[in-house]
Amino acid sequence: MTSRRGPPAEPGAEQFLPSRRTLPSLRRAADGCRGCPLYVNATQTVFGEGPARARVMFVGEQPGDAEDRQGKPFVGPAGKLFDKALLEAGLTRSEMYVTNAVKHFKFEQRGKARLHKRPKPGEVGACLPWLRSEITAIKPEILVLLGATAGQALFGAQFRITQERGRPIASELASLVLATAHPSAILRAPDAQARAESFQELVRDLKLVTRALRRKR
Ligand code: SF4
Repeated sequence: MTSRRGPPAEPGAEQFLPSRRTLPSLRRAADGCRGCPLYVNATQTVFGEGPARARVMFVGEQPGDAEDRQGKPFVGPAGKLFDKALLEAGLTRSEMYVTNAVKHFKFEQRGKARLHKRPKPGEVGACLPWLRSEITAIKPEILVLLGATAGQALFGAQFRITQERGRPIASELASLVLATAHPSAILRAPDAQARAESFQELVRDLKLVTRALRRKR
């Protein structure tokens, strides 16, 4: 007896990769990605942004509501907090390449609000070819993982931010790989004092990047 099966839920992005893998060609190709179901409800693909020769690359989780509407990474409330932390750490956003592990916004509609939903491991895995291609195209000296999803995308399900943050992670992806909290985790802190403390911890981790860049000049 034969059973009829539909297409796999997450066929993966690999088949959508262009043959020439420059940042502009990757960006164009990612616009048409159907590697998992997340493109269906999202407005558009939100690809990474920043100079092709950036020395530092940041990887977050996925676009949020504002990013989905504007088509740019880290432009919503978490992005604004991220910019503030970069500034305090002595880093300039325009010199950094910023992207996400997952390129489409996953959300749950509640009335008019679109609430963030964490991507499933299968969706993160499906999207990984884009992230790997961005890393290969940019060859950053320093790779910073913002939050657990970015860490688990590249290092597996056992990756824990609480264990890995703030110290070099052994990897061939860049000469220095660091992990820290995702700025949206700071926004979710229970009160103003917890938010202020988490923000200072983020700045402290980002200063490791500043120091490493100075050493390498
Ligand atoms: S989330 Fe990633 S794999 Fe899924 S459709 Fe979007 S770009 Fe493709």
